[in-house]
Amino acid sequence: MSSCISCENLRVSFSEHKSYTQVVRGVSFSIENQTTLGVVGESGCGKSVSALSIMRLIASPPGKIESGVINFENRNLLSLPEKQMQKIRGCKISMIFQDPMTSLNPVFTCGYQIGEMFEQHRETGSCEQLLSEVGIPDTFRVMNSYPHQLSGGMRQRVMIAMALSCTPKLLIADEPTTALDVTVQARLLDLLKSLQETKGMSMLLITHNMGIVANMAHEVMVMYAGEVMEHAPTEELFNSPLHPYTRSLLETIPSLDKKSKKLPVIPGDVPAPNDLPSGCSFHPRCSKAFSRCKIDHPEIHEIKPGHTVRCHLYE
Ligand code: SF4
Repeated sequence: MSSCISCENLRVSFSEHKSYTQVVRGVSFSIENQTTLGVVGESGCGKSVSALSIMRLIASPPGKIESGVINFENRNLLSLPEKQMQKIRGCKISMIFQDPMTSLNPVFTCGYQIGEMFEQHRETGSCEQLLSEVGIPDTFRVMNSYPHQLSGGMRQRVMIAMALSCTPKLLIADEPTTALDVTVQARLLDLLKSLQETKGMSMLLITHNMGIVANMAHEVMVMYAGEVMEHAPTEELFNSPLHPYTRSLLETIPSLDKKSKKLPVIPGDVPAPNDLPSGCSFHPRCSKAFSRCKIDHPEIHEIKPGHTVRCHLYE
C-alpha cells in the first residue's frame, strides 16, 4: 500500500514574551492510502497543532513551523508558496473542525458557503447532492438556512459536506463529534466511515476518545507533551499496549464489566510546554518510572514492524 501523506520530524513553536516554546517536538508519521490514522492524547499534547501544520494554518506570529517535511503528492507542503498551498487546502486536503458553530460563517447561508468551495477551487458539483450524501433529507431548507437555524448535528453534516465538496485525498477530522450528543455522534461517525470507503479517502482522526479510535482507525498514534509516545496498528495497540501512558489511557475507559466503583485516573496534569520535566516528560505521572527516567530523554524505538514506542523500558 502506498502512502497518502508523510510527516517527518515536525517541530512547531509558539512565542510568549518574545521567547519561543516548542509545542510539537519532532513528530513523524505516515498515513497509507484509504486508511485512517487515529491520534489520541490529552488536551495540550500537540494533536491539533500537528494537524493545523499540515494545512499550514499556524498563524505566524505567534506560531512558527521550525522544521520538518510534510510529503504530499511528491511535494513538501512546508516549502510550497502560499498560492499553491491554497489550491491544496480545502480541495485535496480538507478539515472538519470541532465546533461547527464557530467554523461556519454566521452571516451566509449554508448553501452559499458550500457553493463558495466549488467556486474557490473551480470545481463543478451539486450542493443539493452533497447535502443528501451526508444524510440531510430536506436539502432545500438546509441550503437556505443560516448556521444558527440548524441543530448541532445538522451543522456538522454541513461542515462534512463542505469538506467533501472537492473529493479530498486526505480528510483531517479534529474531534469532529465532541460538541454533539452521543446518539448524533454515533450516526456521524458511521457516516464518516462509509463516506471514506465510497470516496477512497485517507483520514487523520484526532480524538481523546479511545472508543472512537477503536471503531474508526487502522492505526493509532498516542501523543504526549508534543511527542509521539507510541504508534501501532489499532488491534495491536489495544491488545498489547506497551507505553505506560497508553496503558493508563486504556485503563481509564469505563467498562460495565469492571467491578470497581471508582474510575482509574492518571495522576497529575499534562505539563506546560514551557515547563517540561527533565528526562521523560511523562515521568512525574508514570507508575513505572525509575531513576534514569528523570535524567535521560527516551528516543523512539521500533519494537516490531509498524509498532514504535518511546520509553526506556523497551530499549
Ligand atoms: Fe515511564 Fe520511564 Fe517509560 Fe517514561 S521512560 S514512560 S517515565 S518508564
